[in-house]
Amino acid sequence: MKFGGTSVGSAERIKNVASLIVGRGQNIVVLSAMSGTTNTLVEISDYLRHRNVNGAKEVINSLEKKYQKTISLLFTDVDYRMEADEEIRGIFSHLRSLCRESFNEEDEKEILAQGEMMSTTLMYLYLHQQGVNAGFLPALDFMRTNENCEADSEYIRERLEALMEENPGAELYVTQGYICRNCNGKVDNLQRGGSDLTASLIGAAVVASEIEIWTDIDGMHNNDPRYVENTSPVAELHFDEAAELAYFGAKILHPACVLPAKVNNIPVRLLNTMEPAARGTLIHNTDRSRTIKAVAAKDGIIAIKIKSSRMLLASVFMHRVFEIFDNYRKPIDMIATSEVGVTVTVDSHLKLEHILDELKEIGTVKVDEDMAIICVVGDLHWRNCGFEAAALDALRDIPVRMVSYGGSDCNISFLVSAADKVAALRALQERLFPAG
Ligand code: ASP
Ligand code: MG
Repeated sequence: MKFGGTSVGSAERIKNVASLIVGRGQNIVVLSAMSGTTNTLVEISDYLRHRNVNGAKEVINSLEKKYQKTISLLFTDVDYRMEADEEIRGIFSHLRSLCRESFNEEDEKEILAQGEMMSTTLMYLYLHQQGVNAGFLPALDFMRTNENCEADSEYIRERLEALMEENPGAELYVTQGYICRNCNGKVDNLQRGGSDLTASLIGAAVVASEIEIWTDIDGMHNNDPRYVENTSPVAELHFDEAAELAYFGAKILHPACVLPAKVNNIPVRLLNTMEPAARGTLIHNTDRSRTIKAVAAKDGIIAIKIKSSRMLLASVFMHRVFEIFDNYRKPIDMIATSEVGVTVTVDSHLKLEHILDELKEIGTVKVDEDMAIICVVGDLHWRNCGFEAAALDALRDIPVRMVSYGGSDCNISFLVSAADKVAALRALQERLFPAG
């Protein structure tokens, strides 16, 4: 069970999480830092990198006040309050000891790790104050990356097993998300937002029956609630569908973060701490149901149409086009082809000018800016008739710049002008998910 920063963002929220994790069996609970803390630790490191030790110390002082307040609100028992106070004080004195002229990258990693150290310490002690026999699994004792900066799953599995065996009577276990050791044994992290990856790695290591990712929204919605009314949570998604949605702009788990779960066939459930009884969204590998699941949009898209000047053979032309993008390490989102040309889309202007210059050597080039990709996800296997027609039908009054279908079994994407994005999302909602 993984809880993100906002879920443990205050004493009140920590208490709420405690009530959700107790009495549900011997689970492993992965916590992020309290919301805002990792950003503050980044800020402290920035001051130190700029050799502004006093600046760093001031930020530390105000951060410490926040934790003292949280302690006073969490602990009614004097002994636990004193213990929490001592632990957190120790962490802050460690932070202060790193405020030195010789600040380096290792110190930075050490600083960034303290947020998760604090949230888990508070949760662990709070659970004990409430009479829960919680065990502690220090992430730095089992979470490790190898020479390629990838998780060392064999090591993680062995160490985790050993650590849990040391504490067999525990009702549940608390551990830190995000932080790890690297192949040199130094404190490191799994990149910002890495707690989801921690949960996925642990779930895979212990062969969990399910991984729960708790946030403060009720799962993944079938359309963008910022623009469309009457959206509803999607009950089930295939891992591939979730990946398409994430790629095309939906706020959902990053596919890389759940890869260990996907590969090891462990379902991931998205749940809401504010509404724990809601069923949320289950992401898994089982067969797709014959339905359209969700719609998402990605802004800031640029379409580039390259028409062959016919000096090159068709195959050489295609090769050259993609080679140019590859030379600039420029990812392409959508592709559509015809006999004489190809349109591709990219999502930023980065290095675009150079790319356009080179493309002009092999054909005529036309650029359309301010476009949006509208991605429809679901069971879009080519043998199922009707779904792509329904999506196209919904967009009958909207100018569609390009369509991409058949790249996978689970999506069809449309490129429209950004000005038409909201209308397109609403039209699709009405046609694909009619209310009632
Ligand atoms: N605390 C880390 C961050 O803010 C990791 C996480 O929350 O997933 O990026
Ligand atoms: Mg997150």
